[in-house]
Amino acid sequence: MNTQILTKPSKTDRFSVPDEKGHFGPYGGSFVPETLSYPLRELCEAYEYAMNDSSFNMELKKLLRTFAGRPTELYYAERLTEKYGGAKIFLKREDLLHTGAHKINNALGQALLAKRMGKKRIIAETGAGQHGIATASVCAKFGFECVIYMGAEDMRRQALNVFRMRLSGAEVRGVEAGSKTLKEAINEAMRDWVTNIRSTHYILGSALGAHPYPSMVRNFHKVIGEETKRQFLSEHGKLPDELIACVGGGSNAIGFFFDFLEEEQVRLVGVEAGGKSLGEGEHAARFEGGKLGILQGCKTWILQNSDGQISSTHSVSAGLDYAAIGPEHAYYKDKNRIKYAHVGDEEALDAFKTLSSEEGILPALETSHGLAYGFKRASQLSPEKIICINLSGRGDKDAVEAARLMGVKDLPQMKL
Ligand SMILES: *Cc1c(COP(=O)(O)O)cnc(C)c1O
Repeated sequence: MNTQILTKPSKTDRFSVPDEKGHFGPYGGSFVPETLSYPLRELCEAYEYAMNDSSFNMELKKLLRTFAGRPTELYYAERLTEKYGGAKIFLKREDLLHTGAHKINNALGQALLAKRMGKKRIIAETGAGQHGIATASVCAKFGFECVIYMGAEDMRRQALNVFRMRLSGAEVRGVEAGSKTLKEAINEAMRDWVTNIRSTHYILGSALGAHPYPSMVRNFHKVIGEETKRQFLSEHGKLPDELIACVGGGSNAIGFFFDFLEEEQVRLVGVEAGGKSLGEGEHAARFEGGKLGILQGCKTWILQNSDGQISSTHSVSAGLDYAAIGPEHAYYKDKNRIKYAHVGDEEALDAFKTLSSEEGILPALETSHGLAYGFKRASQLSPEKIICINLSGRGDKDAVEAARLMGVKDLPQMKL
């Protein structure tokens, strides 16, 4: 789509990165063992070919419509807007997608690519389970064998999601190493890939990892921002003043922002997990205390201690709880094109309750970080301003955890 409505010349050229080796300025790249450079090269070539092939793009577009439920609505949150008394608050409803979050955009794109590459088997990692569920679902649809790696601790916390993946025919393999969470699950998935290169494609779940994953995953999600722009122009005749999204690895945020990077009058804000505090081990705000380093194939901002050991992280939302941020975010932070903020567990939980009670929409706890920031911004801005928050996922998966955090002991008897 070509709806550039620049009001002044833009300093940003969003197509200038990454370079052919996957560098976003000093970030990104491909830091992997020799054994993985072959499948990554094969993937680069297949992806480049597919991206320029209209039949691939048409098939994906159709699947996004019929299987995933695109386009998603742009929703005006009238009661919220009234409550905060400032800027108009809009929500981009990615939570309405099949399997409950934006993740299906990327899972579908990569599955279609794997089919074209003649792969028979898919592997993926998952933390909270959302990416695992999206992957299991597309594998059932395409008839792929599917193995999902998940930390044993995450499996215990997300037992229902493990069951949902198994219902879709996936094999869920628990990982007992280290902290038994996402980082270890990614290591196991990479180990599996090395040994099964010919048959297997690895569907990585965020805008992270070695080239070409960060830009490929972003491209599968950029439909979010393209639709948002089209909807604002056709329904409201102008662009919003500010876009806000939560940032884990960074896929929903960069997909939402990408089509707006050159519209420099639109403020873009990514919201990281501030956790319990900004003390080491108590948060996942990589731009607050992180340093340049390399993790799982990619050079970027990473939470690590003075010896370079990866720090443990914490967030109320499992999907934001990761020590590294996608390299494209690091690049646009340096350029000062995207601003970053952080929101803590408690504020996120408050926003979770507020959206539920004011609009009847249960957001994911990840999304609630973006919401909390957005509510604060709305109250600071005047009523002719418009902000739009990307509602990356729905909160059904978090309802039991939210009840626990709210101290509910007896669900059937509770009163709010
Ligand atoms: C996975 C997830 C996120 C975080 O991942 P990103 O790659 O940063 O988008 C955010 N929101 C929801 C609902 C998720 O499932």
